[in-house]
Amino acid sequence: MDLILFGMQGAGKGTIGKGLASRYNLQIFETGGALRALSQEDTELARKVKSIIEAGHLVPNEVVMEIVEDFLSKLPAGTNILFDGIPRKVEQAESLNSLLKKNSRTYRAVLLDISEETALKRLTTRRLCKVCKTIYPITYTADKCTCGGELITRSDDNPEAIQTRLKAYREETVPAIALYKDGLITIDGHASIEEVEKLAFETLDKVL
Ligand code: AMP
Repeated sequence: MDLILFGMQGAGKGTIGKGLASRYNLQIFETGGALRALSQEDTELARKVKSIIEAGHLVPNEVVMEIVEDFLSKLPAGTNILFDGIPRKVEQAESLNSLLKKNSRTYRAVLLDISEETALKRLTTRRLCKVCKTIYPITYTADKCTCGGELITRSDDNPEAIQTRLKAYREETVPAIALYKDGLITIDGHASIEEVEKLAFETLDKVL
């Protein structure tokens, strides 16, 4: 069974997602990461995607769905997926659901729930490793990543783009999550990474 992981920006989808993927043997599809990788290419589309991401807007559905389809087509048989960062709006939820159905895949939706106040606090203080892309909260005070990479601020973690992203979450993603309300597993994401992960494992061990 696949997992669709929802959560406001800063909820810890990336970090908790990694823990879930290793415990339940899931292959992660990280939409933001896949789009950031695409945005580094030397094409017109890449430049367009880069400017959309930096402004905090959502990338057009066709572009996102093409990447998902490509990912699914290369996936070894029998592999379960953790979807991180998709769907982000109702139209995308519909596209993703029909794609999953076409591929005879089943899923459960999980929401890492945090307040906007917590999201703001985390997004304005977190740092990202330039090399391995690990995200570090304010509580990590070292200068470098554990891999030795330089820690930087994500280009869309600036006040303007953060506001735009949170608005998109409120207005577009929350209605998409509502489509999954039957069977939605909600996990409180306010505590430390270790505590949230423990809670997520306790909850999902009963389901997966
Ligand atoms: P994230 O790393 O999940 O915060 O995503 C970073 C950025 O990538 C977002 O602010 C959007 O610009 C873009 N993005 C990520 N996921 C999606 C999606 N499912 N649909 C459209 N744009 C997305």
